Amino acid sequence: MNNYPHNLLSIEKSVRGRRGVKFTPAAKRAGEYLPAGLLRGEEPKLPQLSELDTVRHFSNLSRLNVGLDTHFYPLGSCTMKYNPKAYEALAAQDGFAAVHPFAPNQSAQGTLELLYKLEELLKAITGFDAFTLQPAAGAHGEFTGALVAKAYHLSRKDKARTEIIVPDTAHGTNPATAAMCGFSVISVKSAPDGRVDIEELKKALGPKTALVMLTIPNTVGLFEKDIKTIAPLIREAGALLYMDGANFNAVIGSVKPAEMGVDIMHINTHKTLSTPHGGGGPGAGAVGVVKHLEEFLPQGRVVFNGKKYSFAKPSKRSIGAVKSFYGNIGVLIRAYCYLRQHDGQTLREISENAVLNANYLKARLQKYFPAFFDYPCMHECVFTLDAAKMNGVKTLDIAKRLLDLGFHAPTIYFPLLVPEALMVEPTETESRETMDKFAAAMIKIYEEAQTAPDLLRKAPQNCPVKRIDEVSAAREPDLHW
Ligand SMILES: *Cc1c(COP(=O)(O)O)cnc(C)c1O
Repeated sequence: MNNYPHNLLSIEKSVRGRRGVKFTPAAKRAGEYLPAGLLRGEEPKLPQLSELDTVRHFSNLSRLNVGLDTHFYPLGSCTMKYNPKAYEALAAQDGFAAVHPFAPNQSAQGTLELLYKLEELLKAITGFDAFTLQPAAGAHGEFTGALVAKAYHLSRKDKARTEIIVPDTAHGTNPATAAMCGFSVISVKSAPDGRVDIEELKKALGPKTALVMLTIPNTVGLFEKDIKTIAPLIREAGALLYMDGANFNAVIGSVKPAEMGVDIMHINTHKTLSTPHGGGGPGAGAVGVVKHLEEFLPQGRVVFNGKKYSFAKPSKRSIGAVKSFYGNIGVLIRAYCYLRQHDGQTLREISENAVLNANYLKARLQKYFPAFFDYPCMHECVFTLDAAKMNGVKTLDIAKRLLDLGFHAPTIYFPLLVPEALMVEPTETESRETMDKFAAAMIKIYEEAQTAPDLLRKAPQNCPVKRIDEVSAAREPDLHW
């Protein structure tokens, strides 16, 4: 396990003259047909390997990864659930993947129909009146939503609304978005139970409030149970309510945000509706709005006249385009597949099982790792460390040791308001057996903290890369092999 001979680069394994392909005599005479000025003076510096060596090289490299197809991946707030392989094949079909962005509407009817129907499905599960599919990520959806709010207030000549209220349990992208859109960020402290402090919110609300951004469930994994009280307060103050619905997986099928009084919401389709996004892969942050905000949505919306699908003319009040062309269609196709595969009943089971799994792990581990807020959680549970019992072992040591034991680490040191946070999101696609194995590994780590804390501080030992000096890696990066 400790020995990774295949850790060499392909160029280091190269042997001159070794080939995976055989060139025909005609290919060898290419120089006779090409202008002399375009011919290379020397051989390209490419690895020279047999086909077998090449296959082994890449197969072995792929096994160095800790990924969802090989490992339990409880990365909190990222919803690393299983992404059915059939969706990959469907999204890769030429009819979708090879459409040119400038293709005329009549030759892209299938893609347009899919986008139109996806919008209908998203409306049905959220209760909103309209969606834009353009934003390429959750944070990009927030950006779109904040611009829509700005356009709405300005359209009413209400120029005083320059503030966005964000509770301290919000995702970090919320205050960042507010600042990027030119608003002042008003941070509101949470109540002791981890939820919005209604009195604090009332103090912050006023004629300057443009938008209140609530992450539901919030980043400590709790549902905003007083939302029916909170939403009218915001409305009475003349502000709009934004729901960061990146974690819609926890409530899909159980809750329609528009019915809770939310005006604008984004869904990370790349979390809830498959296409897990660990590693920063492409996403799609669809944004839904209530009727009176529809006219502000970005251009690029699909309409259907009963016969043909086409892109609508942008409305006069649209905030414009937020992305070139029509969004990350490959991700949207997977979301469409997901929503076609599951009806309302199974969507509800999905969120219920996601919540059940998180609470199961919370209960299994609570003797060893206390939950920071000890209430029933939603789809994820945030653990902390009882310093008196940990022998100096930190959350980082636990995360590294989990890699040795065959698990991707949970999200750590986030949310910021939880000291030594370990944010575990098992998702509904994991079996009880897998979660039991994870719980056993966590308990083993707890016991090691008592008997062999140094082992934890030196972890990982079984990975191709051992403990790295993260501070130097950031301050003095060495980008050479
Ligand atoms: C993941 C997440 C985001 C950001 O989504 P990206 O697609 O990574 O930009 C925003 N808010 C919450 C609550 C999230 O979990």
